[in-house]
Amino acid sequence: MGLINLVKIKRRRHGNYETALDSKRQTSISYTVPNQDGNFVQVYRKTFMNIFDVTQKRLVGPIHFPNLSFHRPRVDTCHTCDRLNCEAKQNNSVGIKAKSQLDLHHRKVEKSMEYMRKETTDSQLPGSDKCCISFDLQQVLFVPTLTHSDMFYLSQLPCYNLGINLSDTNRAFMCMWHEGVSGRGGNEIASTILKVLNSGITEKKNICYCGVTTVWGKIKTECRHSFMCCDRDFALIEKRKRVMKAIIQNDLHKVITFAKYDPLFEVVDMSVNGFWDIKEAADTLLNTKNSNMSKAVRIKVDCKNPTVLLTKESFSDVEAWKQVNILKKGKTIGDLKSAKIALLLPICE
Ligand SMILES: [Zn+2]
Repeated sequence: MGLINLVKIKRRRHGNYETALDSKRQTSISYTVPNQDGNFVQVYRKTFMNIFDVTQKRLVGPIHFPNLSFHRPRVDTCHTCDRLNCEAKQNNSVGIKAKSQLDLHHRKVEKSMEYMRKETTDSQLPGSDKCCISFDLQQVLFVPTLTHSDMFYLSQLPCYNLGINLSDTNRAFMCMWHEGVSGRGGNEIASTILKVLNSGITEKKNICYCGVTTVWGKIKTECRHSFMCCDRDFALIEKRKRVMKAIIQNDLHKVITFAKYDPLFEVVDMSVNGFWDIKEAADTLLNTKNSNMSKAVRIKVDCKNPTVLLTKESFSDVEAWKQVNILKKGKTIGDLKSAKIALLLPICE
């Protein structure tokens, strides 16, 4: 329609260039829209995008930029991506195979993200009985955050933060502990989620869990390309951390609490009541060998029949749910309900 025009730049962009041709940027783009009088007026890119409701990606897509180059977009990759990316560079059959595998992998990721987005929007509808919980460990936070040169050679105290985000109410719980309390294995993750959920944060019946870590839940969507709600929360914390100093762990609590307003992040100190040894209890009562859990992308558990796992290896609706009973032979549901779970001993008192 001629609304976007490429304009050749005649003048020199920088004083360093002898001729205008040496300038990196040789073209500029002007955006025009019709006004009420039937004429065209020039507008800013953002206004243009708002009027036609287009995204930046779609806007730059059809235009050919002669001498412009863009940075490679920053994307979250996983170890599969990185391995296949390296293999795909080869100019032989291995490279071709890796390319198709990478494509398949990206499609799977896209599918899982789509699923997660759908669950999130569903949970926000009025009267919905769903709640979508996403969780992930934040990158390790170190205290004290001092920057003088001696600190480079001294070891700092690593603090762990498991972020749990509730999509429907937009509440986020930051469960924190430090290395002296415990590690960051399955026991710690499962105990934390159990503790937070048992504190009555949601009354909804249909809960969807999205996380990288394999934890027992009704539905598990595995996605190592983390663009989950909790990752947005972590970005806010990282931003806040740059302007606030933390000397001890409790300072980190303050940094995290005020990283977001309305509602504030709720910090849960996990070092107070400790963690449970859930693995020990699971090993004595459950047998998950036949469940093929490492390949499953969705796991469904019904509270009426908690020992039967329904698994799917894709996000397709066509694929039937595979049913596996994970209760060990000779054990009953009663054993499961009355099981005593021991507390994990703290690493140092
Ligand atoms: Zn990947």
